Amino acid sequence: MKHSKLKSQESVFVSFILLLVLFQWSCAEQTPMEQGRQVLQQAAEAMGGLEALSAVETITREGTKQRSSLGQARVASERLYVQPARPYKQIIDFTVPREVEFSGSDIRVTDWVKGGYNRDSRHVRIAQIRQLGAYKKEWDRDIVTFLVGALGEESTVEGISEGRVEGRPHQVVSVRYIDDVLYQVYVDDFTHLISKLEYTEDRNPYGDLAKERTFADYREVGDLTLPFSQITKEMGLVTEVREFSEMSVNGEIQEDLFEIPEEIREKVASMAHLDTIPVTPIELDKGVFFGKAGQHNMWVEFEDFILVAEGPTNEMQSLEAIRQIRKTVGDKPIRYVVTTHHHADHAGGIRTYVAEGAAVVTHALNEEVIREFLTRPHTLKPDRLSQSEHEPQIETVEDRRTITDGTRTVELMHMPNPHSDGYLVIYLPRERLLFESDLFSLHEDESWPPPVSPATRVFYEAVTKAGWRVDRIVPGHGRVVEWQELIDALKATDSSR
Ligand SMILES: [Zn+2]
Repeated sequence: MKHSKLKSQESVFVSFILLLVLFQWSCAEQTPMEQGRQVLQQAAEAMGGLEALSAVETITREGTKQRSSLGQARVASERLYVQPARPYKQIIDFTVPREVEFSGSDIRVTDWVKGGYNRDSRHVRIAQIRQLGAYKKEWDRDIVTFLVGALGEESTVEGISEGRVEGRPHQVVSVRYIDDVLYQVYVDDFTHLISKLEYTEDRNPYGDLAKERTFADYREVGDLTLPFSQITKEMGLVTEVREFSEMSVNGEIQEDLFEIPEEIREKVASMAHLDTIPVTPIELDKGVFFGKAGQHNMWVEFEDFILVAEGPTNEMQSLEAIRQIRKTVGDKPIRYVVTTHHHADHAGGIRTYVAEGAAVVTHALNEEVIREFLTRPHTLKPDRLSQSEHEPQIETVEDRRTITDGTRTVELMHMPNPHSDGYLVIYLPRERLLFESDLFSLHEDESWPPPVSPATRVFYEAVTKAGWRVDRIVPGHGRVVEWQELIDALKATDSSR
């Protein structure tokens, strides 16, 4: 008896040692992926626990937002159009998902199911599928839900390394998350809170774009600990600063805030699920077409080729515009795509025309930026140009250029103005048509008098001085405008001063 008892005690002891060895072995052999997971789990713990984070259905944040838009500066050599900080409020409902944002007096509603729109003091814009997609990504990477996704089944932790944020030691976890985006998650060694996310995503027309978002000023919100400061950098430059003063989670949703106005509901819904951007051709003169879309362009038929004024938005719109070009003026080569200025909204679709063989005609001041648009890597979302062997051609204009084949003439003139320095206006003398963007826009149902910017005056004076006789202005935004309406608008503004 005694012997066997000793034996069983021995075996318990041996088992214990064995377990200890096994445990140590498993710790020592923890793979980088397992270590990474553990660090993310600690981060979730530091924010209030994965269970509490999973239970977040809505979040309301209030404070200020300051944006600097990439590629929208007046001077092409500067990257950012810096805007002032404005009061800001966002309500995100992750269950749909959907969001409503108030920024100054502007409102934006984005609903993954119903579609979206935004309204500023002048007009309403309907969200396109790509914009909804961009919001979806923001909801997926929102700091309050990020770890739930990153530790979920759809994600893969790929490894771990060490790094620093503002001198503080961090664990850096690589995690591949929704839509195959690879994030570097910086977790503070001491607080275990996330200080930074680094990732690369496709951004038209830059292609692969390096982004980072830093999080600071963590405070308690109910059972959670959440950052009250979020700063976003793109290409190493600060493009968004959000500082919050109030935050709440799972509050009552005010359904009416998410309401999409009846008169646009149908259009909003149709755009949300439309995998293209409709372009409606309107014939302005024989062989001259206005490509009406959210942001418009124009195409002009010559004897042997086609000239396109602006390639707005993105490839989705350019592909549709090219389809309409083929329908209206046939299969002649598109030889030129002329940019009025370098802003990303008006040049976002030029890559597709270049893939078709067009040369970009732009003011000399924009050469570098346009070359960048045409040559930067597009590996995350390859487009027509990145898949073609085509060597992009840029033709620069200093003061003036005339493109003519004897039957048709297009005049280009440099018109520096407060909106953009390297600006070209596009004039068809015989047809008395002039294409411009952002210098003077009248929207449908615009109240009178419309806003007249300093750029509008420069535009009016330069055209008058050049002796150009213009009947109609063909715009990148808004509707086709009679020249007389511009004169009336200027007069109305003068008399109301
Ligand atoms: Zn512009």
